[in-house]
Amino acid sequence: MPPHRIVIVGGGAGGLELATRLGDGLGRRRLAEVTLIDKARAHLWKPLLHEVAAGSMDLGHHELDYLAQAHWHHFRYRVGRLIGLDRARREVRVAAVLDEAGIEVTPERSFGYDTLVIAVGSVSNDFGTPGVADFATALDTPEEAKRFHRRLVDACIRAHAQAGPIRPEQLRIAIVGAGATGVELAAELHRTTRELVAYGLDRIDPERDVHIHVIEAAERILPALPERLSRGVEELLRSLAVEVHSGARVAEVNAHGLRLADGRKISAELVVWAAGVKAPEVLAHLDGLECNRINQLVVRPTLETTRDPNVFALGDCAACPWLGREGNVPPRAQAAHQQASHLVRMFRYRLARKPLRPFRYRDFGSLVSLGKYSTIGNLMGALVGGSVRVEGTFARFMYLSLYKMHELALHGYAKVALDTLARLITRRTEPVVKLH
Ligand SMILES: Cc1cc2nc3c(=O)[nH]c(=O)nc-3n(C[C@H](O)[C@H](O)[C@H](O)COP(=O)(O)OP(=O)(O)OC[C@H]3O[C@@H](n4cnc5c(N)ncnc54)[C@H](O)[C@@H]3O)c2cc1C
Repeated sequence: MPPHRIVIVGGGAGGLELATRLGDGLGRRRLAEVTLIDKARAHLWKPLLHEVAAGSMDLGHHELDYLAQAHWHHFRYRVGRLIGLDRARREVRVAAVLDEAGIEVTPERSFGYDTLVIAVGSVSNDFGTPGVADFATALDTPEEAKRFHRRLVDACIRAHAQAGPIRPEQLRIAIVGAGATGVELAAELHRTTRELVAYGLDRIDPERDVHIHVIEAAERILPALPERLSRGVEELLRSLAVEVHSGARVAEVNAHGLRLADGRKISAELVVWAAGVKAPEVLAHLDGLECNRINQLVVRPTLETTRDPNVFALGDCAACPWLGREGNVPPRAQAAHQQASHLVRMFRYRLARKPLRPFRYRDFGSLVSLGKYSTIGNLMGALVGGSVRVEGTFARFMYLSLYKMHELALHGYAKVALDTLARLITRRTEPVVKLH
């Protein structure tokens, strides 16, 4: 009998861990043929994107080539963007890939599967706000984060080199959305703009010239976290002179900044949109699979989609019931990681034709990294017996351990230890902020 064909679409926080571990387990012993499809050629763990945008992280040290990972871990990688599904024929359709000059690299093609896992993540949700697509940058992909960073460096060099004084909107950055991404980016930018200027752009005085605004529609920043945490983070941001506007809905983004629903204007040279997520549009038309109003595929607690037991979904693109609580599992890296681990176990059951067990999300809490200034969060659950506020070095350690868990799932202990050591060494020989 030919081996069971498992196709995973989306090699992010959840999908790449799943492909790696299934490859190591089933692929290596030829019990299944595991294929990963992603529209990108390299993986970067998404929670690092705000550091790329601020310039405090070098992408090259953290990116992972899918082809190499596939070679090392006994799965196949195929490049391409998911554009359709034929459930009757059990085939996924992938768009043609063109190079920068428009020359075809791979044609539009289909891949057959016995089990399909969709893990395409989420993109930022502009809620139809005019001007976002033209004048704001989202942080959905490494390319967008890099583009923002380039604009930031350009803005600083321009302000330093120009003959006249700095204009009112110059060197002003508006971040829309004060969830973890927006807040972390604000703190990181506060530090990196100062570092950047210190490399010789001495006509800029960061205290006087650089202004960071954070705009949040809810009544407080970090609305998904306990109130005392958001108060603590807000105090810290204010102490850094970050201007926090809560209860402020953005009505329009334009070439000069943004306009709020109450008519106020905030001038800004750079606008980052980090206010809410939705799943990619393609899922809304996936051969009749059920999806919700933000395009997430609706899944059973077993992570099977409601209308097709051969199609699973995990991570941000899945609307998965949070057993024991109201609502769905939140779109977080720790949820994608846990769901991937659950599916690794469940695939053994599936191949043995045993009934699948439901996925139970374990919330370990949330941590917000304010760069070098602080890390604040709450730890939840059995680990600490309830909800406990944590701060400082211990919180920073817990925050970093989430990424380490992802790296461990992809590489194992030896490689992670060596990589960590190598990064510690190179950090001492390179600028602390990316200068181009
Ligand atoms: C700046 C930032 C900071 C964050 N910080 C945290 C944090 O501190 N803690 C936390 O828990 N979570 C955090 N998150 C959320 C976290 O990144 C996501 O919840 C997590 O990455 C979801 O994992 P996933 O596997 O579902 O999707 P992703 O990791 O987004 O991966 C999706 C993959 O699918 C691919 N893809 C997308 N569309 C297609 C298509 N049509 N065809 C083929 N491939 C496709 C993408 O290239 C990508 O590789 C943060 C997010 C951002 C943007």
